[in-house]
Amino acid sequence: TSKPKIVVLGAGYAGLTTAKRLTKQLSAEQAEIVLVNKHNYHYETTWLHEVAAGTINPNQARVMISDVVSPNRVRLVYDAVVKINKEDKRVVLENSEIEYDYLVVALGFESNDFGIKGMAEHAFAIEDIDSSRLISEHIEYQFAKYNNEENVSEESLNILVGGAGFTGIEFVGELAQKVPELCKKYDIDRSKVRIINVEAAPSILPMFDKELVEYAKKSLEDRGVELKIGAAISEATAEGFVVGEEKELIKAGTIVWTGGVKASSVLGNSGFELVKGKVNVNSDLRPEGEEDMFVIGDCSWVWNKEADRPYPSTAQLAMQEADVVAANLKALITNQPVQDFKFSDKGTVASLGHSDGIGNVMSGYKLSGKSAAAMKKVVDNRSLFLLGGPKLVLKKGKFRPF
Ligand code: FAD
Ligand code: NAD
Repeated sequence: TSKPKIVVLGAGYAGLTTAKRLTKQLSAEQAEIVLVNKHNYHYETTWLHEVAAGTINPNQARVMISDVVSPNRVRLVYDAVVKINKEDKRVVLENSEIEYDYLVVALGFESNDFGIKGMAEHAFAIEDIDSSRLISEHIEYQFAKYNNEENVSEESLNILVGGAGFTGIEFVGELAQKVPELCKKYDIDRSKVRIINVEAAPSILPMFDKELVEYAKKSLEDRGVELKIGAAISEATAEGFVVGEEKELIKAGTIVWTGGVKASSVLGNSGFELVKGKVNVNSDLRPEGEEDMFVIGDCSWVWNKEADRPYPSTAQLAMQEADVVAANLKALITNQPVQDFKFSDKGTVASLGHSDGIGNVMSGYKLSGKSAAAMKKVVDNRSLFLLGGPKLVLKKGKFRPF
């Protein structure tokens, strides 16, 4: 009999780590490994708010896949997945089709606008390198235009961000740093630019305790970020967001939606059952009833039994899931029992620009300010290390002093 074919969809944290681990777990004789990704590069999704604000070069956040996985061991297919056909064990790509014996779905997230009117048409979203670079280019263009056009509106320089979860807060933190640079470059007074972050919930970053939340609020407000809390966005228009009970229209030349995420639309289009935008998987990381398919990273929910709710989707979680999937694929191929996934929480850090941040690390130890910012760079460099070793850290790592 021929060797089994494992197909991994997506080369984000989950998929790329799975492919790398599989090359360690299985010999070339034991299985064929195929990695499918839309582009020939992987990107650090956790750095996209910096790409979107223009505080790092997009190229720093991306890595050629063939530099970190050996094309001799893993067949690399650069194509977009359109549909998964479970019955025939085939995946339809934009330009071809591919059969599998085992499948790992790791296609990541898409922005979720919850059907809010006008959001898809009018707001930018931070989803990948292309969409994030578009935001920074758009913002810079508003500044470049300002002193050159007669009838430029007063609000054109405003940047309006919908949602103050991790992504929204980290993004406005970068903007607080970038806007003064743009003002200087384009000879514009800082007071002409508003950075406004609108949040429906009563607090920003509800996963952090009050003290850290207060720290983050003060840091952002001191640097000119306006936080509009407890105000839901009900509509996006070409001019801005419609906000709060009184339906105030807040105008801005740049509007960005960071109000939530859901699994890649490939899953819904392929008939997977979605719960709050993602696929539920059992603790072995397979959806119920599926013997030869794993769904991981931002495409799935894994139940946290202690907290009685799913683990929040993070890069940290995605990479740990990949380790278990690789081990479980080996187990399936060698007729061993599969193992359950257990999350080992290393803590959480949110950046507030280059040199500030807040974090919970090592079971309850709180960080804020430069120490949190330094910790964030350690986390970012560690992610590179796990993907490409010290060589990649030296090439793409974050070493700029505060
Ligand atoms: P992704 O990283 O989204 O990777 C998906 C991959 O699939 C990509 O390579 C994409 O190109 C590819 N792909 C998508 N669709 C297709 C298709 N149709 N065909 C082929 N290929 C496709 N988490 C943390 O733990 N710490 C952080 O500090 C942190 N910061 C974040 C900051 C931002 C701005 C954002 C947006 C998220 C952050 N997260 C953070 C969350 C974290 O990035 C995600 O949980 C993580 O990226 C999930 O990994 P993934 O591999 O499932 O998906
Ligand atoms: P999120 O769902 O965590 O936050 C979205 C925010 O938008 C929420 O606070 C929500 O109340 C708000 N919102 C939703 N609808 C709204 C409306 N109509 N009007 C106003 N506000 C509204 O999404 P995210 O921040 O993109 O994060 C996605 C995932 O990525 C999470 O699991 C998160 O943990 C992870 N992440 C982690 C980090 C980090 O660890 N540093 C950074 C970014 C993202």
